[in-house]
Amino acid sequence: MMSSKIIAANFKTNHTRRSSAEYIARLDSFMAENGVDTPVYIFPPFTALDSFDIKSGIKIGVQNAYPTVKGSFTGEIGLEQLDEFGIDTVLIGHSERRHILKESQEFISEKFTWFKERGFCIFYCIGEPLEVREAGDDAVRRYLVEQLDGIDTRYENLILAYEPVWAIGTGKTATPELIEKTHATIKALSDRPLLYGGSVKPANIGEILSVPGCDGALIGTASWEISSMVSMLEIVKS
Ligand code: PEP
Repeated sequence: MMSSKIIAANFKTNHTRRSSAEYIARLDSFMAENGVDTPVYIFPPFTALDSFDIKSGIKIGVQNAYPTVKGSFTGEIGLEQLDEFGIDTVLIGHSERRHILKESQEFISEKFTWFKERGFCIFYCIGEPLEVREAGDDAVRRYLVEQLDGIDTRYENLILAYEPVWAIGTGKTATPELIEKTHATIKALSDRPLLYGGSVKPANIGEILSVPGCDGALIGTASWEISSMVSMLEIVKS
């Protein structure tokens, strides 16, 4: 029984308002009818935010938000928009925002502190690119420590996710040995729950969640199809 594991689904720029609502309703029924009590977090796109009628333990979070109540920040959303739907969970530091959207560690830590001060549950992602992994364990440790710069690693509502960049959306999953070793490194820096993310799917979730020091999974691609998400939750439950 692995039901205390945390499972999170990052939709990224996938799903519409309608398909997100259908997905959440189907997942909610599945969880309620099958007594799935593992904590499940869904991060849909902004356009899908709504006041969902949820019977199970599903929590809805956002993939990003700007550290402001409201204001002139074109293309961003702030606390006022989140409060409208009772959202108090935010993903910060995802590698796609670090590398594609060029968010700096300084800005990421500012965002972290702002949402921490408002009591948000923060899913905070760290992970090294391939060249750092190839440079060895010390280089990986230094890189991860830098990604925690300015972050309160003891924050009670913090959930960490180790997501090696070379494993995200590539189909290349880190081996259980590598996950165990890197999680031990991160656990020495923070005692908060630590998820693994990077090409988690029905075929490997059981093995990954059995890795010592792995408290759950943050899933992108394999979470987008409801059937695949349900298969993974069945494995988590059994
Ligand atoms: C992610 O983007 O957080 C992620 C883990 O993606 P994928 O599962 O597709 O590798």
